Amino acid sequence: MANIWYIQVNRFCNNKCHFCSNPSNWESISFERGKELINDFKGRDYSWIIFTGWEPTLSSDLIEWIRHSNSIWMDCRIISNGMACSDLDYVKRLKLAWLNLIHFSLYSYVEKVHDFLTATPWSYKKLLQAVQNALKSWINVQLNCVINKYNQSHLDKTVKFVVKNFPQINHFVWNNLDPKMMRKTQVAKSTLPDFDVAWKSLVKALSFLESVWKTFRVERLPLCFMRWFEFASTETRKIVKDEERIVHFLDSREMVRQMWEYWEHDKLEECKGCDLNGICAGVYEYKEFYNYVEVETQKLSEEEKLDIISKIREVK
Ligand code: SF4
Repeated sequence: MANIWYIQVNRFCNNKCHFCSNPSNWESISFERGKELINDFKGRDYSWIIFTGWEPTLSSDLIEWIRHSNSIWMDCRIISNGMACSDLDYVKRLKLAWLNLIHFSLYSYVEKVHDFLTATPWSYKKLLQAVQNALKSWINVQLNCVINKYNQSHLDKTVKFVVKNFPQINHFVWNNLDPKMMRKTQVAKSTLPDFDVAWKSLVKALSFLESVWKTFRVERLPLCFMRWFEFASTETRKIVKDEERIVHFLDSREMVRQMWEYWEHDKLEECKGCDLNGICAGVYEYKEFYNYVEVETQKLSEEEKLDIISKIREVK
């Protein structure tokens, strides 16, 4: 089972993404607290730690935490915007601490779209430099992307660009935008995606990746918007495999254990007669934010349903 432990090490960032789901409160954890959390992880049945934040590379203790994790045989990785990793010397220091994997967040292959979404000039150029630095240092790279209004029409073009320029990258993750804690500005609100538009370019992106033997996951998107790729839904996988994750938040939520109940979102009238209902999480935050989304009841044969389940159980 792939149970994952997320540790937020700080809540500040050098990008200013409009849709950021963890607004800054300027908190950070001490080196000792970080070590304590890593040691606690050791005693549980978890597969790896992900250091996150707003931006974990802004923590001066990150390299020591990575070193400590590796010294007690805990696999770890980081999620980063790539700003600090545009400096090759910094990436070499991560490698010396035995970091093996970085998830970078790329929102679009179009420079001005990425820079607009991060509200940070040069963030696109720095991110591409960071990817090169990591690959050159023999650190694996995976790409994360938030699905939003400004990239929803070209998710497929973005992955084709990445595969062409960085063929070493083998895994891609899409997170449908999480509006719950994002800023309350008009620009932030304008980033909410149109599911009807996004699913078309997403399905093209997934088909392309499958054709070139790459792997992928999609989070917070109802299954009727990713037909034929249900096995790649993070929530569906968690429901089928009964997996969980722990997130250590740097705010009043503190430690949250996300078990199967967490992977169920809002269900609509159409879901009642849907054959995917049992393994679909439904619409995330329907009542408050995504009430404009129209879902579609799906009809599948028994064989098709079993295929989805066995594909999830087969692939790690
Ligand atoms: S109709 Fe409901 S249950 Fe069926 S795939 Fe869509 S959101 Fe999921």
